[in-house]
Amino acid sequence: MITERELVERLAAMGWKGSRAVLLGPGDDAAVLRGGFTISTDIAVEGVHFRFDWVSAEEAGFRAGAAALSDLAAMGAVPLALLVSMAVPGDGDHSVAHDLQRGVRRSGDRVGVAIIGGDVSRSPGPVVLDVVVVGKAVGFVSRGGAEPDHHLWVSGSLGGAGAAVSAWSVGKSPDPAARIRFAAPPNRIPLGRALAGRGIARSMIDLSDGLIPDAGRIAAMSGARICIQTHRVPADPCAGGDLNLALVGGEDYELMFTANPGMESRILALGEELSVPLIRIGMVEAGTGVVLEDERGRRTDAGDAGFDHFATPWPDGPR
Ligand SMILES: [Mg+2]
Repeated sequence: MITERELVERLAAMGWKGSRAVLLGPGDDAAVLRGGFTISTDIAVEGVHFRFDWVSAEEAGFRAGAAALSDLAAMGAVPLALLVSMAVPGDGDHSVAHDLQRGVRRSGDRVGVAIIGGDVSRSPGPVVLDVVVVGKAVGFVSRGGAEPDHHLWVSGSLGGAGAAVSAWSVGKSPDPAARIRFAAPPNRIPLGRALAGRGIARSMIDLSDGLIPDAGRIAAMSGARICIQTHRVPADPCAGGDLNLALVGGEDYELMFTANPGMESRILALGEELSVPLIRIGMVEAGTGVVLEDERGRRTDAGDAGFDHFATPWPDGPR
């Protein structure tokens, strides 16, 4: 069985043959067209990405919109508009559709953009929600710019959303703060814009699948090795400081980026300016893949952990 990543890569290769209209094609957080227009799409499926015994329809909509906008943040783009398509049960009750749309609109309101279109269909099965985000990046930052000697940075704290999913998956109620980390991803648009616009970040990604797999994407796209110093990783207090959740929990929608070592004071000042914790968690080296280093300098290969929709079933849930 192929992994989700392999399927995405195969489909991207099928659809892409280069274009003079495109500055950055598939494989990054968003595509960038000539002129700087930046576009991405993000799908959320009931039973895979969310469940209605976990979150309300409005929360599911907000979460889907915020997750989609997070990809613009990772490019350093400014959002311009959203499009929303959904498939909902055809039982004559339109409240789910209204609540989903209201939630996505709230995510747009948070960054000052409106929903400019979309589509709706009856679904014979789960609710499916797809959000397209359109933005503009003046000087975009890709996943492919990490170079040996860069420092590795992350915003916020990690593992909270994963803690909520872990609790739900064993039939428990999550910590309220962890539930919020799942239902309401942060708005990192101002941070991404500043990191790109001020020439600080040289590579960047948003943390959707987990710190280790997403670090692996920067490593692969950059042709470099990422070393994560595990004792520096900001494990979310609402995850009980669980380092494993911080490393592989996913869905935190924080930003990870690399920058020249000389940028450290500017990065810390930017964190103060935006009231967002920015923490140095490692470095870039010559090589490939991701390694973990503890505070005594002992190293282990990070492997390829993280969420894969085709390989990792919920412990007790639907696929
Ligand atoms: Mg992304």
